[in-house]
This record gives sequence, structure tokens and C-alpha cells, in this order.
Amino acid sequence: MVDLTLSEEQLALQRTARDFARSEIAPLVSDRKSGAAPADLDKRTLGVFRRGVALGFTRLMIPEQYGGLGGSCMDHVIIAEELAMGDISVAADLFNLATTMPQLFLTAGDEALAARWLSHLAGDGGYILAGCLSEPNIAGSELFCPDPDPKFGIRTHAQRDGDHYIINGNKSAFITNAGVADYYFVMARTDLNQALRESISIFLVPRDTPGLHIGKRTELIGWHLSRHAEVTLENLRVPAANRLGAEGAGGAIFAQAPAMAVGLAACFVGLARSAYEYALAYAQERRSCGKALIEHQAVALKLADMAVDLQAARLMVWDAALASDSDPVTACTTKGPAAKTIAVDTAIRNAQRATEILGAYGVTAEYSTGDMLNDAWVGYACDFTRDMLRLSIVPFLAPQN
Ligand SMILES: Cc1cc2nc3c(=O)[nH]c(=O)nc-3n(C[C@H](O)[C@H](O)[C@H](O)COP(=O)(O)OP(=O)(O)OC[C@H]3O[C@@H](n4cnc5c(N)ncnc54)[C@H](O)[C@@H]3O)c2cc1C
Repeated sequence: MVDLTLSEEQLALQRTARDFARSEIAPLVSDRKSGAAPADLDKRTLGVFRRGVALGFTRLMIPEQYGGLGGSCMDHVIIAEELAMGDISVAADLFNLATTMPQLFLTAGDEALAARWLSHLAGDGGYILAGCLSEPNIAGSELFCPDPDPKFGIRTHAQRDGDHYIINGNKSAFITNAGVADYYFVMARTDLNQALRESISIFLVPRDTPGLHIGKRTELIGWHLSRHAEVTLENLRVPAANRLGAEGAGGAIFAQAPAMAVGLAACFVGLARSAYEYALAYAQERRSCGKALIEHQAVALKLADMAVDLQAARLMVWDAALASDSDPVTACTTKGPAAKTIAVDTAIRNAQRATEILGAYGVTAEYSTGDMLNDAWVGYACDFTRDMLRLSIVPFLAPQN
């Protein structure tokens, strides 16, 4: 039997993350809405990240033997949901990536590499991480194209040069944390004449490496506290020792590291919950025809639907998180994509319902529902589109007994 009761430790983690979201992250959002200077906000956002690091959030999933806390993906999704209640962009881009990307070192299966980098990443500094995968001149969805024709897929090239690689290529305008990251996980092909799946490798590139250029910041419709920009790699010289796993193993390494996607899904559960709690508070306060809005059945049913969908999405995310800890391949192939799909759908639907419940105020800039809608829509495209996620599940469709 599956027991979904949270342990005392998990409840304590949840409280810590909830308090942190309220006291540290939420004020950034209200200050942005009141017109705080973007540069000042950027600086304060990084300060908030550092304080979260000090609380141990980003060391959570690093095994104890490397100086981490040895927590599970399940522990992480509990935190991620709470942090996203403060702001989804801070939760997803800063904390989720920093907490889950180190998993790539574990799936790379190289003990010396894991010991070296995980001990470093678990250190007190707390590092901001970025993944440079998608490229500007091909569809982002082509990233893991199954077609064996070498002409498909990313074009960034890593040429072996003694005990180094020389990397050249362009990464899309959506590289999260470009410009603020301490380390970039760069995906490149070591042989452009080989099928994509067999030629991808991942390299860890420190921020000050010559040849790493950051482009203009990309403004999104939501996720206003995050940073995205194009990254150009020009004769970037990277030690071969910074390659994760064997040459060409990049795709396989990703295919066993589900925590990033599952953690992201948890962030959308947090957003769906924010929309629900925001609308609930409004409906309890505002009155129509002598009654609170919630006493009108049409409004109450919308709130009930929000609560039901939220609970369903959270259970899917927890199921994926449990699989991530016990059966990472299933978590990567089906449970993770399913969890992100339902979590984003729920965030979009709940933001929409909250906007309706607030009536005219729902469409003002002063209230938060418009921001919630925009934040939720970002989920359609980040970390693979909704359609691509569902298509990725198709090969695994089978009767479920
Ligand atoms: C907020 C945000 C953060 C991001 N962060 C990063 C990051 O840190 N690192 C990184 O590398 N990338 C990042 N991305 C890029 C992201 O991975 C891509 O945007 C995503 O994969 C979609 O690619 P695209 O935008 O080029 O859309 P396209 O691939 O051009 O897709 C356009 C439309 O066509 C559909 N489509 C495309 N191909 C197919 C197909 N073969 N079959 C069926 N339908 C198809 C899609 O579903 C979509 O509806 C980020 C994006 C966003 C929005």
C-alpha cells in the first residue's frame, strides 16, 4: 500500500519553505508590482536565493556522502510547491534547477566526477545553474528528435582537442539564468555526422570561461523575476574532464534524471494553489445580494473544482516524485511528463477560474489574477511543450491493470 502521509521531517521542511516563501519571495512580487527598479529587484532576488541556499534547499538532493542532505525527490517537491506559492519563477528557475540539476552527475555514473562536483555544489556558496540545450535556428522540440538522420537536432559542436573540447554554437533566447548562472550545463554534439541520440554530450562550463557570451535579456509575458537570454559559445575551451559520462551519453543521462521535470511540475501545483487560495479569500470577503460570493452556488462550485483539480495534480506530482526516487526511467518516460502536463493544465484552469471569481477586479493590473494567468501559460512551453510531452508518452501507451 502506498502511504502518502508526510513524515515529521517533511512537515518541518514544508513549514520552513512556506515561511520562506511568505517572508522572502512574496515581497519581491509585491515590490515588482509597485514599480521597484528592475536592477534592484534582480539584486534582491539573488539575495533571496542565497538565503534559501543557507537553509539547505539546494543541497537537499545531494547524497550525504558528498556533503548534501540526502533528501529525496519527494522531499524536494514538497518544498518546490511551497516556494512557488511565493513566486513560480523564483521557485522554478533558481531553486528547482539548483536542487535538481546536480542529479545529472549521479546518472552520469562516474564516481570521481560525482565526488568532485557534487561536493563543490553542496558547498556553502550555493550555485545558480543553467542548462544550454535548445537552439535558435531549429525548433526547441527537435532537441531529442528520434529520427536517426544526423541532419536533425542541435548543431552546437564540441571538437576534441587533446584533453579539451572546443565548443562552438548558439543556444536559444530562453536559456534560464543566462547571465547570472555560476555554471552552465552545455549540450553539444561531438559528431555532426552521427545520429543525434548517439552524438550528444553534456559539458559543465564555469561562468567565466572565455568564449561564453550572454545575449540580451528575453522578456516573457510572466515569470518576471527570472532571467532568460541567448547564449553564444565561441571557441569555448572546456576540459574533457568536465564532460558528464562517456562521449555521446548525454541523451541517456537526461533520460534517467527526472527530478528537474517533476520539480517543475510541483512548481505549477504551487501556482494552481496560489490561484485557488487567492480566489477563496476573495469569495469569502466580497458580498453580493446580502451573501458572501462563496455562498452563491455558481462561485462555490468553481472553488470546489479548483480544490479538486489541485489535489489531483498534486497526487500526480507526488506519484512521479516517488517514481523518480525508485524507478527513474518510468518517471522520465511517463510519470514526469504526465505530472507536468496536468500541473500546468491545472495552473492555467485555476488562474482562469480565479480571474472569473474576481469579476472586473480580476482583469485589473492591481490584482494578481492576470499575473497568475501569464505565469501559468509559460508552462505550456518551458521544458517541452504540452503537445510534445503528451507525444513523448505515446510509445509507452499500454493497457493499465
Ligand atoms: C520560460 C522558459 C524557459 C526555458 N528554459 C530553457 C532552458 O533553460 N534551456 C533550454 O535549452 N531551453 C529552454 N527553454 C526552451 C524550451 O525548451 C523550448 O521553448 C521548448 O522546447 C519549445 O521549443 P520552441 O519554443 O522552439 O517551440 P517549437 O518546437 O518550434 O514548437 C512550436 C509548436 O509546434 C509544435 N511542434 C514542434 N515540433 C513538433 C513535432 N515534432 N510534433 C508535433 N508538434 C510539434 C509544438 O508542440 C508547439 O506547439 C525555455 C522556454 C521557456 C518558455
